[in-house]
Amino acid sequence: MNDETFENGDETKINYYHAHIYYGDDDAVREKAARLREKAWTKWPDQVRMGRFRDTAVGPHPLAMYQIEFDHELFAEIVPWLMYNRDDLTILLHPDAEDAFRDHAWYPFWMGEKLDLRLDFLRRGGRQA
Ligand code: ZN
Repeated sequence: MNDETFENGDETKINYYHAHIYYGDDDAVREKAARLREKAWTKWPDQVRMGRFRDTAVGPHPLAMYQIEFDHELFAEIVPWLMYNRDDLTILLHPDAEDAFRDHAWYPFWMGEKLDLRLDFLRRGGRQA
């Protein structure tokens, strides 16, 4: 996974969560991802902070994707919804707390295929991810 030793953290430091929905360079997969994005935005227009389509790999993310940012209050509702509505898309769910590297490398979970994140971006002090 990475060359650092896992350390437990403090979940009370979590500010919010990101769900990253990956679609890569396949137009059909991008269409599926776009439908999921529209459904989520329609369902929680005031509770999700919807990211734009990033059609090239950015930061630690190895494939094109967009992100959905949400707070604790929505977690118990949106996470099961993503589990049941992801349409076989790969999704990374990670907390945003004190350290971007740890949030992505140690504390995330995956729906679908687990991808290799480009963690070097985070070791260099990258914050926005
Ligand atoms: Zn993120």
